[in-house]
Amino acid sequence: MKNLLTGLVFFGLAAAPFATMAQSNTDQSKFKQLQQELPTPNTYRSASGAPGHQYWQQRADYNIKVELNDEKQSITGSETITYTNNSPDVLTYLWLQLDQNIYEPNSMANSTRTGELNQQMPLRAVEYMTREDFDGGFKIKSVKDKNGKPLKFTINNTMMRVDLPANLNPKQSFTFSIDWNHNINNQLTLGGRSGYEFFPGDGNYLYEMAQWFPRMAVYDDVNGWQHKQFLGSGEFALPFGDYKVSITVPADHIVGATGELQNASQVLTSTQQKRWAQAAKSDKPIVIVTQEEATKAEKNKAKGTKTWVYAAKNVRDFAWASSRKFIWDAMNVNVAGKNVLAMSYYPKEGNPLWGQYSTEAVAHTLEVYSKHTIDYPYPVAISVHGPVGGMEYPMISFNGYRPEPDGTYSDRTKYGLISVIIHEVGHNFFPMIINSDERQWTWMDEGLNTFMQYLAEQVWERNYPSRRGEPKNIVDYMKSAKNTQVPIMTNSESVLQFGNNAYGKPATALNVLRETVMGRELFDYAFKEYARRWAFKHPMPADFFRTMEDASGVDLDWFWRGWFYTTDHTDISIEGVKWYTIDSQNPEFVSAQKRAEQNKAPKTLSEQRNLTDIKKTRVELRPELNDFYNSYDELAVTAADQQRYQGFLKGLTPEQKKTLDSGLNFYEVGFKNLGGLVMPLIVKMTFEDGTEEVVNVPAEVWRYNNEEITKVFVTEKPVVNFELDPYLQTADTELSNNYFPRKLAPSRFEIFQQQQRNQSNPMQRQTTSQNNNAGR
Ligand SMILES: [Zn+2]
Repeated sequence: MKNLLTGLVFFGLAAAPFATMAQSNTDQSKFKQLQQELPTPNTYRSASGAPGHQYWQQRADYNIKVELNDEKQSITGSETITYTNNSPDVLTYLWLQLDQNIYEPNSMANSTRTGELNQQMPLRAVEYMTREDFDGGFKIKSVKDKNGKPLKFTINNTMMRVDLPANLNPKQSFTFSIDWNHNINNQLTLGGRSGYEFFPGDGNYLYEMAQWFPRMAVYDDVNGWQHKQFLGSGEFALPFGDYKVSITVPADHIVGATGELQNASQVLTSTQQKRWAQAAKSDKPIVIVTQEEATKAEKNKAKGTKTWVYAAKNVRDFAWASSRKFIWDAMNVNVAGKNVLAMSYYPKEGNPLWGQYSTEAVAHTLEVYSKHTIDYPYPVAISVHGPVGGMEYPMISFNGYRPEPDGTYSDRTKYGLISVIIHEVGHNFFPMIINSDERQWTWMDEGLNTFMQYLAEQVWERNYPSRRGEPKNIVDYMKSAKNTQVPIMTNSESVLQFGNNAYGKPATALNVLRETVMGRELFDYAFKEYARRWAFKHPMPADFFRTMEDASGVDLDWFWRGWFYTTDHTDISIEGVKWYTIDSQNPEFVSAQKRAEQNKAPKTLSEQRNLTDIKKTRVELRPELNDFYNSYDELAVTAADQQRYQGFLKGLTPEQKKTLDSGLNFYEVGFKNLGGLVMPLIVKMTFEDGTEEVVNVPAEVWRYNNEEITKVFVTEKPVVNFELDPYLQTADTELSNNYFPRKLAPSRFEIFQQQQRNQSNPMQRQTTSQNNNAGR
């Protein structure tokens, strides 16, 4: 096409004003490969993003005994850890995490908390500031080797170093034990990822226990020991291992935990065991402990204790929950031919919502995530309801959202519950199995998991109100002040606007990759490959970036650079459009066209007034003043014009003649990158006859000039308007400049009177009005 048109003349029909584009801009920085930014590949981590042929990781196996004191809300525990050094390095000390120490009054988390005071302060915030009252933190009673000989240990805030009596050489193991106790935080006043809730109505406690034992830190090929202090936001870096945990609790408590129950016959009644066996074969939730039974236990408060024994293989942590208030249900989920038990533990305060949705949401999560990542490898998956709003551990998660005491609930509560369960159960995949370093990179688990959560929500129900994932939902964050944003590639403890930065933006970025940049097929294959490669291993950001490219054959360096290493946003505008058709050079046609244009030219105000004001001009009054030029028609076609045209035609090939007569329209569209992110151009053209065409131009269109470009579109039918990103795929922050010609977009102002906003619980409104009617 391009060659064919050489020598033909374009005829500009309409030219919109836009500045001549600077063609000399050779800044290609946005498409520069990520060379300095990514670590050099090595034998542990390969350039393809896969684990290298000498990849290694440490292992920590635990045997723990713990007793819950329901009177004092504390635990006493002892653990034996067998640590195996698979690294090529000789170790002289080990580091453990003491996360409970965040509750010590002088902890770094407490002393570095910034804050402000206002005239009006929520009670909870004041309680937060006076939390020194709580005697929190690990009380380490002893650290001993396997012969009972004390080991030297040093506590540095939330980390503890244990000095080894002898070098721990590669391939060697070291077994040691720790005795400790600690008070349990009241989650409702002190916050935290675990803790207890007291129910004043029946005088019972519900415990969600996590970070409750000294845990091995990760030693790896990237950081050495990952012992960055726990300040509350950066979560955990933990090695895999097998756990055996004996949990002693009041005799009428029900305990849910990471792993499989080893002594059901000792802790469950025969009826409960029967129901449990039934649930293991059911594709619908079966209640193992009913609400009636739980309510009875709340009143009786049995004396004595029971010990629940759990075992878990190849997990990176262990959490549990305990209460006599627990209702317990379960169902079987078939994951690629393997049976998994989906279960929920919740107090009666969670019903009716929890009985209806929790276990179904657990099962749904396992099914959808397994399809996109790896088959869920563990035997159980659990959702527990208690004070913690949402927190994940291997096989078990703690989730909030509770209906009103009258059993009604808002749609926010309903979808909030389903979403948080999908999210926290989804964390089994990221980071419990694909075990990224949460202390360093929040986005690697939260971002990937929030993206998967979005996919799972959309399969739960049509038009599910997903909060994150759709590009349009991240627009407000993307255009927020740059000094309130940091790049996604920022350490977990320094992230600003945590939810948007570490959850929303990376989740959206992945959705944009899947729908717009790579397409579903290439993306899904590469994403699954990342999960497969790094399951039960420790991936780093570069491993993810490299795998996504390596498995798809798509150069994504520009995308990672823009979305993960900068705070740029998408704002592309259509600056102008020049419309050309081919000048046929047929003098009859050209002349007619010029005459039409002359007739269309607007009359000036003076011309309009003079037309009526001036009755006769001098020349009209005196015809003798007319000469040749008064009757000369400059647009009249002459014989010479015709001759020239015939000569031109004779020089053309048949193909060239066809092009000349094609009537094609040529549009030179000018685009400006105002937001900084280079993104694909999704251009919708609406034609004169009302039909439409959408063209997707890859982001590489910006590679010679990151700021402004022109692109030519050739169409048979004349275009009446151009629209950029019509299906909201790119999180473009300013839509008003996406149209040519510009479109008036009506904004609506809300007119309201000073009055209370509508209650957001229509279910309660309806029930109340029904009750009122019934009473009359
Ligand atoms: Zn999360």
